[in-house]
Amino acid sequence: MNAKRVLVTGAAGFLGSHLCDSLLHAGNTVLGVDNLSTGNPANLAHLRNESRFDFERLDICQPFDPGKVDYIFNFASPASPLDYARLGVETLLVGSAGTINTLEIAKKYHAGYLHASTSECYGDPEVHPQTETYWGHVNPIGPRSVYDEAKRFSEAAVMAYHRYHRVNSHLVRIFNTYGPRLQINDGRVISNLMSQALRGEPLTIYGDGMQTRSFCYVSDLIAGILALADSSEHLPVNIGNPEEWTILSCAEEILKLIGSDQKIVFKPLPQDDPTRRRPDISKAISLLGWTPKIQLRQGLEMSLAYFQEHIETGLVQNSQ
Ligand code: NAD
Ligand code: UDP
Repeated sequence: MNAKRVLVTGAAGFLGSHLCDSLLHAGNTVLGVDNLSTGNPANLAHLRNESRFDFERLDICQPFDPGKVDYIFNFASPASPLDYARLGVETLLVGSAGTINTLEIAKKYHAGYLHASTSECYGDPEVHPQTETYWGHVNPIGPRSVYDEAKRFSEAAVMAYHRYHRVNSHLVRIFNTYGPRLQINDGRVISNLMSQALRGEPLTIYGDGMQTRSFCYVSDLIAGILALADSSEHLPVNIGNPEEWTILSCAEEILKLIGSDQKIVFKPLPQDDPTRRRPDISKAISLLGWTPKIQLRQGLEMSLAYFQEHIETGLVQNSQ
């Protein structure tokens, strides 16, 4: 994708800001929009003098017209369990009204459209690893439902605009991703554990730490997303790193990396916390020729300088 005018929603967030960088690097002109509810303008500060980049602060839940765009990446949404618990109704609205508003823009300007969906669509999965054909196991009224159901609605909306209005759309189901610009205080496990280890505080593990996640480094994820955006696939595609870690072993890896002998403290497991998660990426491999390159140890090393620079004094916020 190059030499296009591209709209990125959620541009001041972790993933949105990396996406803006990659799109600009490829020669595109980018309009980033964000309401800054969970994002950070500092993520875009390095683009201040970039003539091909513009930023507008707006809420995508209100209809807006960015002018003619060739492509839309819809990344706006609170994304961490702490953020979407705090912003429950806003999360439902951005997944529903926000998605419809941006799909209307795609329809109006015949723009390509890629929506950031999530492994949370699978809920607490009974199928492991998760394939795109699995319909999921989501509690529709639990504390995570504001996020999970908003994302499931947004997938239905994207498919409807594709079927009824021929929008050239793509759906990426993103699995846990980390790297520089992850918000330090967003309560996600990598932000919490890295910050705690660097501050010399005990590392918090929820439950017994035997639940699993599969962590993808941000540059791998962005490469997969750009490949999907250029493809002709309209059905969901998992993008993530299938290397699966228990949360306890992830904490131990972080302690080893930082050379810390901090304790691990166990706290209650949040309700409906998925027991295991690992993407089946066969579809991304065969369709896009994409595989992740960076394993957890290397990715944590590559993120270390960012966390060292950005940890603030005081306690790490967490969802307990
Ligand atoms: P983030 O919180 O860093 O970024 C989200 C951005 O969206 C923030 O800048 C926020 O201010 C903005 N936003 C929220 N509501 C908005 C609204 N109504 N109008 C305009 N802007 C709004 O989170 P992230 O990790 O960068 O996630 C980006 C997208 O990727 C989200 O849609 C998320 O659901 C999806 N995703 C992320 C992960 C991950 O591991 N990071 C995993 C699965 C899916
Ligand atoms: N978690 C943890 N300690 C923390 C933060 C999270 O043990 O300080 C656990 C959380 O309960 C979940 C996993 O780590 O089982 C991943 O949590 P995160 O919030 O990063 O993402 P999720 O995949 O649950 O959306």
